[in-house]
Amino acid sequence: MDAYMEFLTDFGVDIRRDIKAAECTMINRTIPYGGTSDIWARLRFPAPTSPIMPRFKPRAVPAGPIPTPSGLWLVDLKTSLTKPASAVYDDHLMQLAALRHAEVALICPPECRYGESENHDASHEFPVPEFVGTAILNLRTNGYGFVPLPADRDAFDAFCGLIPLAHYESLHRRGDAAPVQRSLPVRRGR
Ligand SMILES: [Zn+2]
Repeated sequence: MDAYMEFLTDFGVDIRRDIKAAECTMINRTIPYGGTSDIWARLRFPAPTSPIMPRFKPRAVPAGPIPTPSGLWLVDLKTSLTKPASAVYDDHLMQLAALRHAEVALICPPECRYGESENHDASHEFPVPEFVGTAILNLRTNGYGFVPLPADRDAFDAFCGLIPLAHYESLHRRGDAAPVQRSLPVRRGR
């Protein structure tokens, strides 16, 4: 919570004014998939690019400024007691790309939370807005890391390519996979 409050202060975020949605379910019926986004936040940056925090400058890659357009950002919060505030993973990018390219977002009463009940109707759905950016917000006991990730069309195409893999994996659990030996064990000494 301290790290989250710190982020809100540093980035000039007023919750009532700037947080447009929280825990919003987003659906793409064409592909199909669904998921829940953490926050949609209207962020204001003083410049179109922002410098990397000095303590997270990568050693191998030249550290250039990162695009930070002002506008509506799709932000996913990640908490951890062990990982650094700079940690991002490929699946974070896939997750953001999927949510950004969802078709509709839901504002449902509790009884039709996932849009699949008899109570649900189109008045609970609205088109997903354009996001100017997508980011991971890492929350740690010693601070936060706001990490923009390019969840663009290429990332979305990659996500779509993974869906058959996810289906296959869910249908074919590997719990019965184990090393075998060629013959029965020889019992020694009775
Ligand atoms: Zn509904």
